[in-house]
Amino acid sequence: MSTLSNAKIHFNEQGTPVASLFDDVYFSNDGGLAETDYVFLQQNGLPLRWQSHADTAFHIIETGFGTGANFLLTWLRFRQYRQSLPAARCQRLYFSSIEKYPLSHTDLRRALAVHAELSELGLLLLKSYPLCVAGCHRLSFDNGTVLLDLWFGDVNSQLPQLNAKVNAIYLDGFAPSKNPDMWQPPLFNGLARLSTAGTTLATFTAAGLVKRGLQDAGFTVEKVKGFGRKREMLSAYMAKPAKAVNAEISGVTIIGGGVASFCLALALQQRGIAVHLICEDQSVALQASQNRQAAVYPNLHAHITDESLLHVQAFLFARNFYQHWAKQGLDFAMDWCGVLHLASNEQLAQRQQKFIEKALYPTSLVCGVSATEASAIAGLAVPHSGVHIPLGGWLSPQQFCLAALAYLKQSSSFQISFNCQVSAITQQQQHWLLTTTAGNINAQVLVLATGSKLASFSQTAALPLNKIRGQVSHVQQAAMAPLQTVLCHNGYITPQWQGIHCLGATFDRHATVAEVTAKDNVENLQQVNEQLQQPIWLSQAKVIGATASFRASFPGSIPAIGAINNSANLYILGGMGARGIMLSPLLAELVACQICAEPLPLSQQLISKLSASRFYKE
Ligand code: SAM
Repeated sequence: MSTLSNAKIHFNEQGTPVASLFDDVYFSNDGGLAETDYVFLQQNGLPLRWQSHADTAFHIIETGFGTGANFLLTWLRFRQYRQSLPAARCQRLYFSSIEKYPLSHTDLRRALAVHAELSELGLLLLKSYPLCVAGCHRLSFDNGTVLLDLWFGDVNSQLPQLNAKVNAIYLDGFAPSKNPDMWQPPLFNGLARLSTAGTTLATFTAAGLVKRGLQDAGFTVEKVKGFGRKREMLSAYMAKPAKAVNAEISGVTIIGGGVASFCLALALQQRGIAVHLICEDQSVALQASQNRQAAVYPNLHAHITDESLLHVQAFLFARNFYQHWAKQGLDFAMDWCGVLHLASNEQLAQRQQKFIEKALYPTSLVCGVSATEASAIAGLAVPHSGVHIPLGGWLSPQQFCLAALAYLKQSSSFQISFNCQVSAITQQQQHWLLTTTAGNINAQVLVLATGSKLASFSQTAALPLNKIRGQVSHVQQAAMAPLQTVLCHNGYITPQWQGIHCLGATFDRHATVAEVTAKDNVENLQQVNEQLQQPIWLSQAKVIGATASFRASFPGSIPAIGAINNSANLYILGGMGARGIMLSPLLAELVACQICAEPLPLSQQLISKLSASRFYKE
């Protein structure tokens, strides 16, 4: 996996952005938006097709995101269509765009400034535009009705990673004569693989190699009048037989009352799916999600691995997700105050040094800091250099669950059962039968998000689940009040919230009960003293409370996500270890899309790695 670089661009005399590497413009000098409208929307039959689309979601794939103008105009038209026909069946737009050289934030801002019509949506895009890291970045707009999947990487390496049927294709990219590497058979065949009967395609070029490539891949191709002074362009469609229509999902039952369950319930609710949540306790978030403050930041390896890419993607998604729901009125404490990870031991120092030296990640994600810089950022004297993750922070998992519950309860399609312990799940012909302390419950689709109790059903008993008890100590200490970032070493210290810092956490692989112990509070303090050389600001710290719970993880710390086999309508969402608050939003989004048969927000490669069915192969 190679690292990516931003596009190098300049602006010509007309103010149009030009890619220096390709010596080609991003959109035509005369009226960029009119061209987009004509070439990509109209030649794909949009926006008219949305009115009679038979599915609830419409999926567009674009090659070359560039300045995002094609996306923004399509979003604008989709918004207008939804406003004029709110009851039409097609409610959601998925737009998957592949980009090898993402524009930097600054260039994107400047490039979009010329399109007054797009200014409002352009600002929203700029707000959540991802960092230049390979892989899929899902951005969600208009309360989850417009989903942009930005696949950063070469089209020929990313296209095989996409995994959903497409309704319309915007075949963009610089002119074939200027960018011959892109316009190759794998591109045309890759698009054909994702196409089905009725998929349409439009491209600005009429080049013979593109026409032949599309025909050889199975498209029926036509030359049509080009935009403005351009003589010709191509439009195409696929006449292959359609896929079988997916069975309608009326409702999903989720067992579990923690962060993962609530992230999934919110993602399903946005898709109009009824949710029944089953919680064995008398309230939500009383187990691993009970922590006061959880640090949110990606775990970065010394090399670019699937796991680090997953962490970066999940981290950026989680930030947008929590900020979005806070804006929707969910009231929970969070602070994106940054995370400092100190090189407090040799192992950490070596790992950090490797990825900083090799510049594996953008500096806006992570940068190296000296001990002096670290102390200034932290607001407390620390004895080590380290790395700073300025976008990181903390939030309160328990408050998030309570706020999500209050929000979901306003909807008549949400139901929650408390004090409801499920002792068995049995597959019937069309549904699952749950035997519970509150009687039998039927579920059309069932998701197990039961944390450390994931292996407690006969269907999951063989899962190699590790349960690791962890205790977080609640500390009061005036000398620590200036702490203004999350401070990580082997463990972590949060800035104070309501006068209390969280210090964590212990790791106990042998415990069988999750009780708070005095010994673990001593251990948490001792760990800070060992890792940070007896900091003076900790010397008078008073432990005033603690929480203890089991983290659940699988070998290699790789969660188990998705259906346990293809037809059973039984899904797993778990094994996120100590990272549930960061991983849950994206992994719950993945499960929601799997249930609804919608485009998935992760590469095929990552999905296979995470798949719960990996444990069910003979
Ligand atoms: N659709 C864009 C818009 O609305 O601004 C304009 C696209 S611009 C004409 C072509 C884009 O294709 C550039 O952003 C370029 O970096 C990208 N591109 C070129 N070769 C590529 C490749 N092999 N893989 C992915 N993207 C590529």
